[in-house]
Amino acid sequence: MSELKYCQGPDCHTYYTKDRLRGPKGNKTYQTRRRSHFYYLGGNACSTRCQDDWFQKYGTRAVDYFGRTTEAKHLTEENAWRKSWDWDSSYQNRFYVYRNSITNETRPLTEAQFNDSNYTINTGE
Ligand SMILES: [Zn+2]
Repeated sequence: MSELKYCQGPDCHTYYTKDRLRGPKGNKTYQTRRRSHFYYLGGNACSTRCQDDWFQKYGTRAVDYFGRTTEAKHLTEENAWRKSWDWDSSYQNRFYVYRNSITNETRPLTEAQFNDSNYTINTGE
């Protein structure tokens, strides 16, 4: 069994749900949810509400800590290739292409290249 961890939502314990109400009779409290796995906030929050609470409280500090974007990033022609596929004129066979989302140029692609998630003609960035 994997280790239990607490939801990181700062207000998780303030939401009135039966599963949060814990403890012996006469001494019950609403408690932060504890699970082996969470689906939100990268596996750290029990719900979108707790995820949003966390971001409202800590999001700006997190962005500043990890590095704020201060100028536009550019996706250039060299890196604007997207894998795509379409049907041939008989609608019998798929064909695969690289399509440049800036120039609209297409280049042929094999099915194996299409399915290979490491194959790219983009140069990075
Ligand atoms: Zn929570």
